[in-house]
Amino acid sequence: MEIKEPIIDYLQSCIEGIGFRDLYDFVLDKDLCVLCGTCVSLCPRIDIKDKEPKLLEYDPECSMCFKYCARTYFPEEEAEKEFFNGQTRKNSLLGYYQKANVAKSTDEAVLKVAQNGGVVSTLLIHALNTGLIDGALLTGRDENWQPKPIIARTPEEVLAAAGSRYTIASSLLTYKDAIYEYELEKLAFVGMPCQILAARKLQLCPPLSDKLGKFKLIIGLYCSSNYSYDLMRKTVQEKLRIPINDVKKIDISRGKFLIYKKDGSVKEILIKETKIHNWPSCQYCKDYTADFADISVGSVGAPADDWNSVIIRSDIGVKLFNDAVAAGKITVADTIDLSKVEKESLRKKSKLTKMDEKVISAIQLLNVSEVEAKTYTTLMSLGYADISMLSKVMKVEETEINNVLNTLQQREWILKTNGVYNPINPTQLIKSEIYKFQKNIKKLKSDGLIDLEKLFIQNNLMHMGYKGFMDLI
Ligand SMILES: Cc1cc2nc3c(=O)[nH]c(=O)nc-3n(C[C@H](O)[C@H](O)[C@H](O)COP(=O)(O)OP(=O)(O)OC[C@H]3O[C@@H](n4cnc5c(N)ncnc54)[C@H](O)[C@@H]3O)c2cc1C
Ligand code: SF4
Ligand code: SF4
Repeated sequence: MEIKEPIIDYLQSCIEGIGFRDLYDFVLDKDLCVLCGTCVSLCPRIDIKDKEPKLLEYDPECSMCFKYCARTYFPEEEAEKEFFNGQTRKNSLLGYYQKANVAKSTDEAVLKVAQNGGVVSTLLIHALNTGLIDGALLTGRDENWQPKPIIARTPEEVLAAAGSRYTIASSLLTYKDAIYEYELEKLAFVGMPCQILAARKLQLCPPLSDKLGKFKLIIGLYCSSNYSYDLMRKTVQEKLRIPINDVKKIDISRGKFLIYKKDGSVKEILIKETKIHNWPSCQYCKDYTADFADISVGSVGAPADDWNSVIIRSDIGVKLFNDAVAAGKITVADTIDLSKVEKESLRKKSKLTKMDEKVISAIQLLNVSEVEAKTYTTLMSLGYADISMLSKVMKVEETEINNVLNTLQQREWILKTNGVYNPINPTQLIKSEIYKFQKNIKKLKSDGLIDLEKLFIQNNLMHMGYKGFMDLI
């Protein structure tokens, strides 16, 4: 794999003076932490207490926790070149991919325990059996549906982790154990789109060992949102009155949260009633299809819940998937409805783009139109976007968006690289607007004011009383 700048530089450098305090200020305190466990796995001085990473002792400020965090710097364009090598086609809603299929496991043992078509577990088992990996970092659960990060080294251990936990999980917590305790060399990881970014950083520049713990396969799950464990305790136990250890399977389908009990009965609750238990940082997340995974798997877009919709992105992903199909482990159909996946992706990306009218009016004080102010804030909510994405999200014609973007670019409110627009940080923007304003006032004073004043006096002195005259001096 060819190493690309600048992410390697960033991961390799020790950024002096950056430590847990910065992780706290920029990630934890801003409700951005996804509790992935990476910082805890990398640093013996950090542990999870009261549902968030806490510093236990003095901080040598080596910057490791901050750099490898799932929520800090991840240059997407560089990463795309690194992992997908320009051989794949980019779709602004689905990311880069080589092919997309509907697929299902042919293994009855997998289908019995899997969430949907069992493609994830089957690919992992095939990867173990063929020697591509010697272990996988997965997310199992205990009898109370508490998610439990585990290391699977056998097909049986993969099966034990099958199924979805709609609960935020510290799936990367076991990374250090895979290296120090199990001495695994070739790892797979299965995780949510947010967790994939931390796994990719660990893959690009392994911080704990040169030889062990190398990620060979990264599988991402589609994700519209996730929940805190309170969903289980408060909604399932207290509201629906189902003892948590009576639950066999939990699923989200067609706007409903479905609880399958061990006795075969099913209870349901509307998703909108579960929203209070949403994990806070999920509201800022835009990635539905785990755009940086080797293979992304979900159920949306498949014809039935016991099939998977699969987006295959990297060469490693294509090879593994084709091998598993050729070996008869997975069966495929071409009936994937990608428009449904795109719709969910757009819904996720668009959810934060409506800005308070008060904010829009305040921005207009800087002499921009309403649509310009809205385009700038929408871009800020999306992080970055091309014209087609902005047009879809804002429901405005591409030609109009194009004109607005040109104006904003000239005003230096946004930057354009390879057809993608990024917003400038608002503090920087206001500072630069104040600077421009001060420069204009200075120019007005030096170039215009003396002549204007002379003209005014020459033509108006006779109209000025004592008070007006005093104002002049
Ligand atoms: C929180 C969450 C939200 C999801 N949202 C959507 C959605 O909006 N649309 C959609 O189409 N699909 C969604 N999925 C994916 C879907 O539920 C299935 O995981 C996917 O279709 C794969 O099915 P499978 O039968 O191949 O998986 P299986 O073979 O059953 O394997 C599932 C794998 O998921 C891993 N896993 C389970 N829970 C977690 C967790 N909390 N964190 C990290 N890893 C976990 C396990 O390690 C296991 O290896 C979501 C999954 C989760 C966990
Ligand atoms: S997102 Fe992960 S790495 Fe970042 S602070 Fe939270 S647990 Fe640590
Ligand atoms: S919505 Fe985003 S932040 Fe939340 S679990 Fe899913 S991928 Fe992670």
